Amino acid sequence: MSHTEAAPSQASHKLSLSELSPQTLYDKCVALARNLWWTWHPEVINLFRDLDPIRWRQLDHNPIALLSEFTPERLEMRAAELVLYSRINYAYRRLKEYMANTHTWGRTHAGVLGGKPVAYFSAEFGIHESVPIYSGGLGVLSGDHIKSASGLGVPLIAIGLFYDQGYFKQHLDLDAYQREEYLDTKVENVPMEPAIGTDGKQVNVTIETRTGELHAKVWLMHVGRVKLYLLDCDVEGNSPEDRELTSRLYGGDHRTRIRQELVLGVGGVKALAALGISPGCYHLNEGHSAFATLEAIRERMSNDGMSFDSALRDVAQHTVFTTHTPVPAGHDRFDGGLIEEHLGPLRDELKISYEQLMGLGRVEPHNEGESFCMTVIALKLSRRANAVSCLHGYVSRRMWAHLWPWRVEEEIPIGHITNGVHVPSWLAWQMLQLYERNFPAGWLQRMGEHEAWKGIHQVDPGELWEVHYALKNLLLAFVRRRVSRQCRRRGESDAVVEAARNLFDPNILTIGFARRFATYKRADLFMSDMERLNALVNDEDRPVQIVVAGKAHPADEPGKQLIKKIANLRHDERFANRVVYLEDYDINVCRHLIQGVDVWLNNPRRPLEASGTSGQKAVLNGGLNCSVLDGWWAEAYDGSNGFAIGTGTTHVSDQITDERDAESLFQVLEKQVVPLFYERDVDGLPRGWIQMMMNSIGSLAWRFSAHRMVMDYTKSAYLPAAGGVSCDMSLR
Ligand SMILES: *Cc1c(COP(=O)(O)O)cnc(C)c1O
Repeated sequence: MSHTEAAPSQASHKLSLSELSPQTLYDKCVALARNLWWTWHPEVINLFRDLDPIRWRQLDHNPIALLSEFTPERLEMRAAELVLYSRINYAYRRLKEYMANTHTWGRTHAGVLGGKPVAYFSAEFGIHESVPIYSGGLGVLSGDHIKSASGLGVPLIAIGLFYDQGYFKQHLDLDAYQREEYLDTKVENVPMEPAIGTDGKQVNVTIETRTGELHAKVWLMHVGRVKLYLLDCDVEGNSPEDRELTSRLYGGDHRTRIRQELVLGVGGVKALAALGISPGCYHLNEGHSAFATLEAIRERMSNDGMSFDSALRDVAQHTVFTTHTPVPAGHDRFDGGLIEEHLGPLRDELKISYEQLMGLGRVEPHNEGESFCMTVIALKLSRRANAVSCLHGYVSRRMWAHLWPWRVEEEIPIGHITNGVHVPSWLAWQMLQLYERNFPAGWLQRMGEHEAWKGIHQVDPGELWEVHYALKNLLLAFVRRRVSRQCRRRGESDAVVEAARNLFDPNILTIGFARRFATYKRADLFMSDMERLNALVNDEDRPVQIVVAGKAHPADEPGKQLIKKIANLRHDERFANRVVYLEDYDINVCRHLIQGVDVWLNNPRRPLEASGTSGQKAVLNGGLNCSVLDGWWAEAYDGSNGFAIGTGTTHVSDQITDERDAESLFQVLEKQVVPLFYERDVDGLPRGWIQMMMNSIGSLAWRFSAHRMVMDYTKSAYLPAAGGVSCDMSLR
């Protein structure tokens, strides 16, 4: 692993000094900033931070914005003061080597995709906090997926939308009620460039609808070796209203929604054609992009003279669909009027009737009362479909069984590939150093394999604890900084702002809970018995502190009430220094939380959490999961690698399920978590706890890594779809 390479010698340092004019130095920094590869390389992140630590934080860790404040001369002065030349040269050389490297897993195992890559469609991509084109879990998963595809060298092109306002920034008012603020992203500060087509010109796509044309331009973003193409409707030729079509994620009404999905799916396939890319496999990450299949059918009919039916079969053969939603209400549906308005002209070219088109999106094709469901068309037009955890596979097969009424439930053709996280993006630098000292050389390339992580059991327990304690202190510093800032913004008294600077204690068991505030996630489950909560958090010898974060969808009033309920605990003196709410949950806040907590809490109403990934991020950093046996945790928990709430049964009544789970939550915290954490040996070390940290890392980090996930997709979905070797028939 190049992490362990010796730093460039003094001689090469001198050489580089004379070689580097201020402009060359500046250009190298810009080149580093313009490939998001830097986001998972701590030494490059540290390099940018060192240029100006205060501005770095103020600019949301955006190196392009930071560099725009430097002239080459000032950058050189700064580099000279800090002796950064060799670090800049080294980072730049590593990026070049990375881009040129052909000794990859993908080259060995997925060579056939070389000439016909995977086209990965997703409505959002969460790559870094400075690129706000994501809202939450789905986006972060897509970001992690393409980062691992890059690392493994799996030929993959990604397609998404460019939102110039992204998702909202969250603030709470004095009443702890959520306020949403949309900020305009400065396009020049986003690491992307106009995509150039085979004709040498910038790629623009036009989509015809019954009510006029819709135009989009295409941007190119570099995420390591993966090219991410983003469609953007803010172009001349569009009506003022349509220019804002791709401004925000998940805003607007059904019409906005279908138009966004039209641009993503149909526009995306058109963009690939203009770029000269013919994919061997279309991967629809969630149903939003399912219209892509229709445009791909049209292409085949027009280019190869196929009939609609044979083109449909051919496209389905090459399509992989991942479903993420375990509740029927969560699936996009459109009425016939919207479908005809937006897909009418395409339907004409497909030479099919309105009824035939609607039938593709209906469970019962001729049921006129049924609207057009994006998940249904995605299931019908893909030969391989999968859920995102084992349990979610069962739930999905049951939910869609009526699409295949002649099959028994186990034979409903929806498999599962469990989600994972991109290890280098979520692993704390201090933890990485610890692993580098103890794991075999090259482990980071093989992070999706069990062997790579076995060394965890050889790590000195005291050392692991020390690193964890240091990370926890960093989290507490972050919490204090953020909370005092949010108090100041709300206009609270100096005394309150000052008190925030002394919140929390690093020696106290610290629990983190952060996620979207959808009600099924039951963020307030720990508040179901306030006396018991009081006894738990204020125990004289063994206290507990809890940090909570998360946004509610702007239209989700119950979610906002939940936030208010939790955030207002600060007015109760029993909880003021025991429970804090952090505003504006995003990738940055998530990273701080999962790197520093002792316990990551997750208590959704089973089986509504399809997978969940934040707990997987905590694992990497030594955090222990305490979770309902839902999503990924249902297949991860083995009795020695974390804590389980409940026994994995579900009651028919939500109320009874909630009561039982609340009881179990308190039981687990009181009887297992707290005692194990506070049980110390003569050196003050919690031996049992550290053992559990090791069990967690050793058994889970590789399995729930995005590397393992992308290898699974490649072997069981991409290669068969592309017509290469089929290594595994488990999906169908
Ligand atoms: C990882 C992540 C998520 C997903 O977490 P869940 O466990 O699915 O709730 C959501 N939002 C952000 C910002 C994340 O980083």
